[in-house]
Amino acid sequence: MQNNLLSESLFSLSNGYIGIRGSCEEGLEGNACRSIEGIYLNGFYESVPIPHAERGYGYALNTQTMLNVTNSKIIELYLGKERFSLLSGKVLQFKRTLDMEKGYLLRELIWRSPQGKEIKITVKRLVSLTQRHLMAFQYQVEPLNFSGNISILSSLDGAVDNHMHEEEDPRFSASLGDLGLVVTGILPDDTRAVMIQETLRSKQVLACAMENCLTEGSSFAIDNEQTGESATVSFQVNGQVNGKITLEKFVAYYTSRDYPVDDLPELAAGMVEKARLTGFQALFEDQNEYCRQFWANSGIAVEGNLQAEQGLRFSLFHLMQAAGCDGQTGIPAKGLSSEGYDGHYFWDTEIYMVPVFAALFPEEARKLLEFRFYILDHARSRARELSHKKGALFPWRTIAGEEGSSYFPAGTAQYHINAAIAYAINKYIEMTDDYSFMLDYGAEILFETARLWEDLGDYIPNKDNKFCYNEVTGPDEYTALVSNNCYTNYMARWHLQYAYETALLLEKKYPATYRRIADKLYLQQEELEAWRLAAENTYIPYDQKLKVHPQDDSFFDKAIWDFSTTPADNYPLMLHYHPLVIYRYQVCKQSDTILAQLLLGDHFSLDQKRRDYDYYEPITTHDSSLSPSIFSIIASEIGYPEDAYRFFAMSVRLDLENILKDTHYGLHLANMAGSWLCVVQGFAGMRTNGGGLKFNPYCPQYWQGYRFRIIYKGSRLEIAVELNKVTYKLLAGDNISFMHKGQKVTLARGKQAEYKLI
Ligand code: BGC
Repeated sequence: MQNNLLSESLFSLSNGYIGIRGSCEEGLEGNACRSIEGIYLNGFYESVPIPHAERGYGYALNTQTMLNVTNSKIIELYLGKERFSLLSGKVLQFKRTLDMEKGYLLRELIWRSPQGKEIKITVKRLVSLTQRHLMAFQYQVEPLNFSGNISILSSLDGAVDNHMHEEEDPRFSASLGDLGLVVTGILPDDTRAVMIQETLRSKQVLACAMENCLTEGSSFAIDNEQTGESATVSFQVNGQVNGKITLEKFVAYYTSRDYPVDDLPELAAGMVEKARLTGFQALFEDQNEYCRQFWANSGIAVEGNLQAEQGLRFSLFHLMQAAGCDGQTGIPAKGLSSEGYDGHYFWDTEIYMVPVFAALFPEEARKLLEFRFYILDHARSRARELSHKKGALFPWRTIAGEEGSSYFPAGTAQYHINAAIAYAINKYIEMTDDYSFMLDYGAEILFETARLWEDLGDYIPNKDNKFCYNEVTGPDEYTALVSNNCYTNYMARWHLQYAYETALLLEKKYPATYRRIADKLYLQQEELEAWRLAAENTYIPYDQKLKVHPQDDSFFDKAIWDFSTTPADNYPLMLHYHPLVIYRYQVCKQSDTILAQLLLGDHFSLDQKRRDYDYYEPITTHDSSLSPSIFSIIASEIGYPEDAYRFFAMSVRLDLENILKDTHYGLHLANMAGSWLCVVQGFAGMRTNGGGLKFNPYCPQYWQGYRFRIIYKGSRLEIAVELNKVTYKLLAGDNISFMHKGQKVTLARGKQAEYKLI
């Protein structure tokens, strides 16, 4: 029970629209343990003022906070007058299973009441992966040693609040103060009820409906009761020893983000009514089938290490669950497993998650990128606010498009988010050849974000007139507001060049589209040339003596953090030292220069990668979960298999073993994507940089083998690696060509090729 908060994150279910933590239906009253009974709707938020004691021009004034919505999972059980609670009586058996194969949560327990009544409880819960507005519960009880009155109460509770605001931890969420959801109506109807709730400031409305039915059990009586903020349907059953009583509960949410306010109650009621007619079992089978297809497509397996395999599957399962697929929402840093980080979307999506989706579920990758187009106007306004005459600056963290970061040095100053979006567009197109995305959305995003680099940077005489970027923050948040962050400069250079080449290509191959976009953006030939020149002349910090890239202009002028005297309890450093202290030293929270070496792998020699890795590895704390996977992939590439495995092991079990000690406040979705990337880009050496698919596989010595599947330009390829051989098999789609360790391989459908590994 002490680990309850952690379990609630691990056992969370979601479909990218609704997310529910793994908290128990009956709740956990009292102080004996803590529970965050969170249910979240992706993109449903309150706009909360940011309290700046000293406010400066252009500071973000409001943030958006994803709300904990109507508590619809409540099912209470009474044996006569005794209320079932895990905190009273005796729990004789208890087991919770996240069934990733079938896509549901199972809870099985036997409880003895204080008066000695024994009952078996079996609860199945699913958040439908095929109907995004729906979740369903099957709550089954079986009296083991008594017959008599049993009451089951199923409720909607509108008295909800957000929980996670702890003053000194930026990873939690903003305090809502007096804001939050209010109940504006309850519509009861026999076994059904609909609750309407509204946010006070952002004026968003939701309707939550529940429908309840007893499918097994003897005679029962029904009651439907409402108070100001709750609606309850209760069933009185005459329970028989060993006679099963089964309640099916269906819940639907609809919000004004997607539909007119007046339609919401009817839509929600209609959905639960339809679900009741379908029945839990049919929904369950539908869910199983969706998951079967998902696992067949991903094909991930590890031979010889169950822990690693479980971790990889756990990561992929939660990633799949987090995918919203609607083009108007992104994936929050913690998925929908908690309200941590306010439910905000960061660059995590583009750098970590999109590459996974592009290789496994390209449709989802496209939808995530469409979301950036959806908020492009906000990014344009933000650029103007920051005095950029043109272009777009994407918010560092957001839900609806406005910048939600209260601390600009580690927020808005992370301009590299623009390049992350450009990079993800490029990855998506490399993997899919879906150029229609570029024509419809991608090019406009790409050009608007590229223009911002040109406006942001300057030719600096003191730097040989090279094009420099000053006062920016790179990915490593333990260094802020620096000049020429190496990662940023590399990525900006690549971005400008990519935008330039895309413009030329569009002009030649799709002149009408190009004209349309260029006219809309007032894009002139001279501006394209300016991008090319800025790219060509970008300043790249490099230390000739050490032959290492400094993270920025001043990084090597600082002392190295004294790790030998830092107590183990003082990590993560950001919770124990003022930012100014941290900024003064060479110490990294996460991969920065090393990340550039992965994303732009062909811009660095192997020797250079080794030297940079040797420099940065000892000074990186990995206080951010975004770090270990990147170090693992580069370690694989430069021939450090021990390091590669050590960092992979950390990444793949990060949440399951609560390695960063904060999983109780939500899962780390970017890291989950990173675990898969460790295998695919690290151990199997998959790259697409510079066009074409390449592999350079090896098998970690601790395993007998591993396999995975990807979809590349519509063809599904399986890669199976053993200690001394690799087999590539084309499972579906047209002929495919790729490189295996520098050698060209072409496969026809159903064919396979084997190579020895030494
Ligand atoms: C990391 C950022 C990341 C954010 C959300 C922070 O700790 O430093 O890079 O985007 O978490 O995951």
